[in-house]
Amino acid sequence: MALNTSDLLASVPTGLLINGHWVDAATSATFTVENPATGEFLAEVAAGSAEDAARALDAAANAQKEWARTSTRERSDILRRAFDLVHERAEEFATLMTLEMGKSLAEARGEVAYGAEFLRWFSEEAVRHYGHSLTSPEGKLNIRTQHKPVGPCLLITPWNFPLAMATRKVAPAVAAGCTMVLKPAELTPLTSLYFAQTMLDAGLPAGVLNVVTTLEAPEVSQTLMSDDRLRKVSFTGSTGVGKILLRQASDNVLRTSMELGGNAPLIVFEDADLDIAVEQAKQAKMRNMGEACTAANRMIVHEAVFEEFSRRLTAELEGLKVGNGMDESTDVGPLIEQKALDNVASLVEDAVSKGAKVLTGGKKVGDAGYFYAPTVLAEVPADARIATEEIFGPVAPIFTFSTEEEAYEIANGTEYGLASYVFTEDAVRMQRATENLEFGMVGVNVGVMSNAAAPFGGVKQSGLGREGGAEGIEEYSSVQYVATPR
Ligand code: ADP
Repeated sequence: MALNTSDLLASVPTGLLINGHWVDAATSATFTVENPATGEFLAEVAAGSAEDAARALDAAANAQKEWARTSTRERSDILRRAFDLVHERAEEFATLMTLEMGKSLAEARGEVAYGAEFLRWFSEEAVRHYGHSLTSPEGKLNIRTQHKPVGPCLLITPWNFPLAMATRKVAPAVAAGCTMVLKPAELTPLTSLYFAQTMLDAGLPAGVLNVVTTLEAPEVSQTLMSDDRLRKVSFTGSTGVGKILLRQASDNVLRTSMELGGNAPLIVFEDADLDIAVEQAKQAKMRNMGEACTAANRMIVHEAVFEEFSRRLTAELEGLKVGNGMDESTDVGPLIEQKALDNVASLVEDAVSKGAKVLTGGKKVGDAGYFYAPTVLAEVPADARIATEEIFGPVAPIFTFSTEEEAYEIANGTEYGLASYVFTEDAVRMQRATENLEFGMVGVNVGVMSNAAAPFGGVKQSGLGREGGAEGIEEYSSVQYVATPR
């Protein structure tokens, strides 16, 4: 059932969440949130400043001691109630994401299911985060470990998955007993604000989760990170900003989790099942309009199957409908903003100018909104910018190889190491591929692998730490070792 969008927008809090209250920015400043499909106005939200950030950290720091003392069952129950509430409000969350970020309603509903799962997963992990004990080898000590919350955290999220990137950080922080300041992306704050209200409705005590929306991300984060009450920063976004934050984190030796950029290879070997490879490659490329750090950035295809693979992938991408995500028949929504559209267009122009062939797409769509046609490029030269830069758009460049070693060499030839994909029916080659690929994640015959129960994260310049899985809660916990004589 279609929701009344003006009623929905009117129900979203637009202030800063500080110590359980929705308040205006100290300066009373606001900023505008727009729909990338139409440019239409959606809401005015509080434009927080460094001063507001300091107030938010006061609240988080004041709440930390008592929150750390709550039982894990209490935290688990709050997360489980939040999971139920997000599902009750699924259509509201999906509609908000489509309105402010552009993805199709079908994709937004998928994100609600995926994003909510972090709440359920960490409600289960909260009560099963075991320490261990042993006797020291020489027999003189009993060694026991217990977990403590790291302390107040700064959580910085991007715009591409407005709900899931928030739940993937907030849920393990809550489970571990941390308090936090969430700074959502300025392009998509509404989903986070609605989510924060949902956490309050689920019973999260005042001060545990504080939210600062802002147009001054550098000042806000610098203020928080230079305050020695903050103990951790968890960031998802570009590698460039991640490096700045890592430098700033060194001053107070903060714990850091960094989910940064990717340049995912998708290797199709000559023995791949092409029905599976084409369908999964489409998903790996087109999920979220290609605006995902796990998106297949480079299709690396054996020359024996290149022709069939590229023909079939082209047909699949031509079958996708581009349009406003609010239209139920839309498969591919707009890109997030003009800058993103210009960047995708310039990567394609650069590749074409160096000899790449456009098999489909290769152009903007329509006059309004930031739409780009699903695009397949063949014969892409290795020196094209698109071979090394993150595309973040619906463009599939295809490179070819002849030997297995060459495929790994091309795949690993990047400073990134987040997701990778391999298509083969040969079990021995599957294993060899996982050994050869320098990536934090390998999808074998599958194009979408994000899951709350799995450790998401990268190596090399794709980041530090893991989100989700049994690993996710460790990022928010410190191990304390307790020694007793034996
Ligand atoms: P993208 O290019 O995907 O927008 P960014 O890394 O620019 O990724 O943004 C991701 C998040 O980081 C957003 O919430 C943004 O506001 C925030 N951000 C950007 N620059 C800084 C900075 N210098 N310090 C802290 N946060 C920042």
